[in-house]
Amino acid sequence: MKIYKFGGASVKDADSVRNVGRILKAAGNSPVLTVVSAMGKTTNKLEALTRAIHQRSDEARDILAEVREFHLEITRELVDDEFNPVHNDTANFFLELECLLETHAEGDDYDALYDTVVGYGELISTRIISNYLLYAGTPNHWLDARNFILTDDRHREGRVQWNETGFLVRRMIAPLAQKSLIITQGFIGKTRQGAPTTLGREGSDYSAAIFAWALKADEVVIWKDVPGVMNADPRRFPFAEPIASISYADATELAYYGASVIHPKTIQPLQQAGIPLYVRSFVDPAIPGTVVGLNDLPLEVPCYIVKDRQCLLNVRSGDFNFIAEDHLSAIFSTMATHRIHANVMQHSALNFSVCTDEQPERLQACMDALRNLGFQVSVMENLSLLTVYNRQHDQYTGGILSGREILMEQNLAHTVQYIIR
Ligand code: ASP
Ligand code: MG
Repeated sequence: MKIYKFGGASVKDADSVRNVGRILKAAGNSPVLTVVSAMGKTTNKLEALTRAIHQRSDEARDILAEVREFHLEITRELVDDEFNPVHNDTANFFLELECLLETHAEGDDYDALYDTVVGYGELISTRIISNYLLYAGTPNHWLDARNFILTDDRHREGRVQWNETGFLVRRMIAPLAQKSLIITQGFIGKTRQGAPTTLGREGSDYSAAIFAWALKADEVVIWKDVPGVMNADPRRFPFAEPIASISYADATELAYYGASVIHPKTIQPLQQAGIPLYVRSFVDPAIPGTVVGLNDLPLEVPCYIVKDRQCLLNVRSGDFNFIAEDHLSAIFSTMATHRIHANVMQHSALNFSVCTDEQPERLQACMDALRNLGFQVSVMENLSLLTVYNRQHDQYTGGILSGREILMEQNLAHTVQYIIR
């Protein structure tokens, strides 16, 4: 059994969907469960739609119309038969979204609304793809992943309930997957009470790993627009080169530091079940790509990861007291409450500094809470975080940093990180 995962870029238009169809056909008779993301940049659009619905802004209708037209156009291009059920199917999802727009009330929970609205991106894309494949002569079975991936009720970052999920996937999907190609969604799940949840942005890789873990799959293949895992982002750094093989541990570190090629939570379930992960190019499926987890050999190359949209939060004790354990404990617990994740941190006698992703609403709430506890708080925005992993082999950092202001630096044995402007 193989698990395939196709991200948004691999299904961004009709031609890309046809390409996915060819890759699935080439898999032949071996059973494949296919996890697919929302098409192109749909998730960003649906995030904007969520905000507009929540604010009861007129913009909601325009965004909805734009997302609808984008999908209907792809559907028309793929299935040239106006009586095919796919057209109705697709339009129906948009009717459901329109109903939400009418019924959402001020004061309803934002994160719960987010999960309901944004999850449609995956439902719609998989429905179109499944129908297109049937139309093009590739039998398959469409499944709603929310019936199998159970999470707790932490909206937008649902935590998987492993026992129930494993049970449901094995019991309900395993027999079906032996007989038919399965098309299902990444990123989405549901609470035990039936409320839609999501696993965090870019969470479809993680979904693929969850299905693989539950089904004891032989391998997972993530199909990307790059030739595999590379030691830097090729769009940014011309020296970037592909890595043929990498251990689970190194891949986890790279994902953790922000290498966007694999979602950070993906490796753990695969490592637990000993399932190799292949990262391959949907543009050129003949290239072998990268295999993760087949061996433990050390990496021979330095890796460069840049995260943009970072900010540096600076916290000082209000009364000129040392930042001691009790302060740190209060700071961390406030950060946890507001889900502010520390990418890098440092502290001195009077200061605690933490670099985090830019998330204006959450950060503002966290800063207010810290001020209420008596801390002095300031923030610098629009920064980048450069991580050099496997730094013993480094040869490019000097060039990357030239002309940049370094605001904070952290040195570890294998890794050095710079917060830069
Ligand atoms: N569509 C979701 C996102 O863009 C999940 C994913 O692509 O993995 O974040
Ligand atoms: Mg995506």
